[in-house]
Amino acid sequence: MKLVAITSVLALLPSLLFAQTRPEDRRRFFDENEVTTDDLRRIPMPPGPRGPEGVLVLRGGRVFDGTGSPAIAATLVLERNQVKAVLEAGVTDWPADARIIDVSGHTVLPGLIDLHTHLDYTEPNVPIEQAVNPTDATLRGVERLRFFLESGVTSVRDTGSKYDVPFRLKQWVRDNRIPGPRVFAAGQLITGTGGHGAEGLSPRSQLYGAIREASGPDDWREAVRENFKNGADFIKLSSHYTREEVAAAIDEAHTLGLRVTVDAETFYIGWAVEAGADSIEHPLPRTDEVVAMMSDRGVYSVPTLTTYSYIFDLSGGYYGSTSRRFSFSKQANLDVLRRMKEAGIKMGIGTDLVMDWFRFLPSSYISELEWFVEAGYTLPEALVAATKDSAEILGLDDKLGTLEPGKLADVLVVSGRPDEDLRDLANVEIVIRDGHIVIEDGRVFVPRHEPVPEPPARER
Ligand SMILES: [Zn+2]
Repeated sequence: MKLVAITSVLALLPSLLFAQTRPEDRRRFFDENEVTTDDLRRIPMPPGPRGPEGVLVLRGGRVFDGTGSPAIAATLVLERNQVKAVLEAGVTDWPADARIIDVSGHTVLPGLIDLHTHLDYTEPNVPIEQAVNPTDATLRGVERLRFFLESGVTSVRDTGSKYDVPFRLKQWVRDNRIPGPRVFAAGQLITGTGGHGAEGLSPRSQLYGAIREASGPDDWREAVRENFKNGADFIKLSSHYTREEVAAAIDEAHTLGLRVTVDAETFYIGWAVEAGADSIEHPLPRTDEVVAMMSDRGVYSVPTLTTYSYIFDLSGGYYGSTSRRFSFSKQANLDVLRRMKEAGIKMGIGTDLVMDWFRFLPSSYISELEWFVEAGYTLPEALVAATKDSAEILGLDDKLGTLEPGKLADVLVVSGRPDEDLRDLANVEIVIRDGHIVIEDGRVFVPRHEPVPEPPARER
């Protein structure tokens, strides 16, 4: 018995060490007070106040802080774009001019994170001219950003979109010029010639502009650098590839300080994990040996069960794809999730909504949490997966994912108790991103622009 216990502790050790020593993590090059951009690129920037002026107090509610502690009656105090304090109910330690919002009967939790989306993929019945047009692609992204905000999601990881669309969306949200969650973008998905997403790819394909076909290790490196040049926060790779190609791309990304997530199946997953991939997307088939290797190396996973159940419910299978040649069922997908859970692999929430499935939000997001519960998570553990664990997978757990002093002020307020009934997550009342109230009374709140005086008139 004792031997078993020691063995299981030893089995955990490599994953703990690995999680803390990811070669791409730039945090180790900065001292605690260095100011950097609040994204995965961590670019140094001048110090100074950030976020809206003043103190915002959410009192009278229950706080589920995302750390794994049970929800408690407490008051959340935000100052500018940071969490200032979580106060015991009854304590009123804030400045007299603070704005106070009564959230009685509500639960306050960290803003939700979606680790897998495609903000600009087209929808059914859109003419191909509009599907491939960057203007239409941008407008689709603007609409979906709103759907996410209205669902309580304050951060999205875009795992492949056209051209520079996700980077522009990221910038406009950051500068408060359009409402939306924080955007962390990969840029183009990189795959081998004719690989996933590139089957028959031509300028008249819906995904044209979102996929970078690459051939040979040098070209895979170059594709990573192209995305880095465009502004990538992380790199997304997809099968097919050779061992040499995936290893070259991961090495290049890590050298540039970027994490790599991989969309692959069967033996390709093993090759990506051997090469140092940080996470694996989707519930696609993999052996127990590969699951064990993921666990040993601290590789994360974003299983996206919901979208794979939609594929099954709407089409009965994954038909017509040369990159998905294996048996497919909802049960097999759930089994992959269960096996990863049993192996101790840390998993995060991603919806991967394509087609017109964005319109299922917020239900789709909640359904993903329910799949986690079906695989053995408790309800609070599923909420931690959606917040703290997803922030860790993103690589921003020092800034996002929990309501602790110093964290960025990304907050969700729902009526009810989502830690006891996940469907209460749909009752979105208030959303705060970077200290700004972006949803109030359940509706997107866009402040009026601050009018600038006209220039003084010149003499005629
Ligand atoms: Zn995807």
